Amino acid sequence: MSKHFVPENLPAKIQHYINGEFVDSIGGETFEVLDPVTNTAYTTAAAGQKADIDAAVAAATEAFKNGPWPKMKPRERANVLYKIADAVVAQQDRLAEMETFDTGLPITQAKGQAQRAAENFRFFADLIVAQHDTALKVPGTQLNYVNRKPIGVAGLITPWNTPFMLESWKLAPSIASGCTVVLKPAEFTPLSASLWATIFEEAGLPKGVFNLVNGMGEEAGDALVKHPGVPLISFTGESSTGQLIFRNCAENLKGMSMELGGKSPAIVFDDADFDAAIDSTLFGVFSLNGERCTAGSRILVQRGIYEKFTEAYAARAKNIKVGDPHDPATQVGALVHPEHYDKVMSYVEIGKSEGRLLAGGGRPENLPEGQENGSYVAPTVFADVAPDARIFQEEIFGPVVAITPFDTDEEALQLANNTKYGLAAYVWTNDLKRAHNFAQNVEAGMVWLNSHNVRDLRSPFGGVKASGLGHEGGYRSIDFYTDQQAVHITL
Ligand code: NAD
Repeated sequence: MSKHFVPENLPAKIQHYINGEFVDSIGGETFEVLDPVTNTAYTTAAAGQKADIDAAVAAATEAFKNGPWPKMKPRERANVLYKIADAVVAQQDRLAEMETFDTGLPITQAKGQAQRAAENFRFFADLIVAQHDTALKVPGTQLNYVNRKPIGVAGLITPWNTPFMLESWKLAPSIASGCTVVLKPAEFTPLSASLWATIFEEAGLPKGVFNLVNGMGEEAGDALVKHPGVPLISFTGESSTGQLIFRNCAENLKGMSMELGGKSPAIVFDDADFDAAIDSTLFGVFSLNGERCTAGSRILVQRGIYEKFTEAYAARAKNIKVGDPHDPATQVGALVHPEHYDKVMSYVEIGKSEGRLLAGGGRPENLPEGQENGSYVAPTVFADVAPDARIFQEEIFGPVVAITPFDTDEEALQLANNTKYGLAAYVWTNDLKRAHNFAQNVEAGMVWLNSHNVRDLRSPFGGVKASGLGHEGGYRSIDFYTDQQAVHITL
């Protein structure tokens, strides 16, 4: 009998939410949902099919064409968004428990998620009220102005890492813009997405504006991507899934925003603040269980401090507390699902022939009672990893890091850019000129200099190369969900 924490009042089944009602799949299909510390099913969820997507898109289309939401004044929509933000914060403890239970994320790290999700709603509420568009006058000849309008039904497809918070990234700007939406959350972690339905209803969002269809990517996700009544797809997930969705969107020439995978480098120069670099590079790959798109999963270290760095880093990694995600002392919890666990473990095995194992390398010892079958992986550090190694090139998305030495700035840049990905980069040096030159040349959508992964909501978020297409963040998100029609009149 497992002794793990189970939140109260878990749903007996997780349903879709279509046109203001919780419903099962039309054909009655379901799938099992596992908790990651025992890998046993704790509930079932409705497995959406094409018919369910059709029903959700019909509701969203009706709400867009005939409902009040797209026509409301920005201030009126903003007032609803503020109420949503307050309701999210009011549920923060419950949400953290649910996320920890469903995803295996340590509870201390799950606790910040509601605040960040709420902030997304407040931010886009403020942005739509402050929004202004261009008017251009050609004296005596012509007046041109921009008539900004929501595009229509947006399809939102999200991954299982920090699911609720990542859903808020898409829900807040799409709804703020006046679009109506169909959300297809990740099948590994459907628990918290249902909270949106109640939160939105209580905040006064008109029915049909938000619709939720659970299910598999290949079924529900695919039907949403291919639906001709959905002109926009905002997707966050793996690069290979993004490629497939890109192809499937081509048929209907849909607008796409793609936030994809990463293999981000952290570059530590000899002159860096050593302790800060160690702290940050540990955080970069071991926080959120390493299941973080912007994880600094390749550490490039300059030769002069290489041995000192690898030793200190491995010693710290060995001390990371792995265990029950609900225990506040836990720093790395359980990976989300046995399928993902198998993938991460296969890279751990590959790494043993590609690098020098300094820490971890398998399951941790002393797992909590009753959780012996949980998806636990010890924080794993490989040093001396060559740039053509698979663990250097491929996204592992778990607590596994590859460390590689370099000699010169040029070599560091060449190594940093030597993968198909280009999401984030982290640079550690006390030479400001070098830091900025490096930042400007590294192939990454986002760069942090002597700092880590804190982002102001106004700044662009997105990757280059195989890490994404387009940018979210600030007005860029509003641009994605709205059309900027140009109106011209001759004077
Ligand atoms: P995934 O690509 O397997 O799934 C993401 C979503 O796509 C899920 O909802 C899934 O059901 C759906 N999906 C799968 N196949 C589909 C299809 N054929 N058509 C339509 N939808 C489909 O990704 P994941 O494993 O859930 O998430 C982890 C990945 O997400 C990692 O690669 C990570 O780097 C990436 N990620 C990127 C960012 C970012 O902002 N760049 C943020 C978080 C996660």
